[in-house]
Amino acid sequence: MLIPARMSETEERRWVGVMLDKLAAQESRGVLGDRELTERALRLSEQYFDGRARPRSVRWVTNQNTRWGSCTPSEGSIRLSHRLQGMPEYVVDYVLLHELAHLLVPGHGPGFWRLLEAYPRTERARGYLEGVVAAARLPHLPAAREE
Ligand SMILES: [Zn+2]
Repeated sequence: MLIPARMSETEERRWVGVMLDKLAAQESRGVLGDRELTERALRLSEQYFDGRARPRSVRWVTNQNTRWGSCTPSEGSIRLSHRLQGMPEYVVDYVLLHELAHLLVPGHGPGFWRLLEAYPRTERARGYLEGVVAAARLPHLPAAREE
């Protein structure tokens, strides 16, 4: 990290803060890159939805703190909260499948949950996420209401 010469102490502190944020953002893309994430989603779609859900892009985002995932069906794009990073794979897979299912079925009606029944760890993953929310004492954070 290079700090330009002749910065005041305040400027220097701010600069270091900005650089640390950038580093954190890079690291948080972490384990799976966005391309691997997209490939993983395609594999999950093959495995559980007969390949019917076809995301065009799947990426991590850091600006999503009240939802685990979201999607824009018209664009075929899926976004996952960076807060999922470090959670067990089966939980990340569940959130991916949840958003993939939304590419096929909007809302959370019976047809939506029937799709997710194909994934054997749906209930377990939902329980895990509810536990995370409870542990963070944020009961208003809607674990089951990602769009
Ligand atoms: Zn949803």
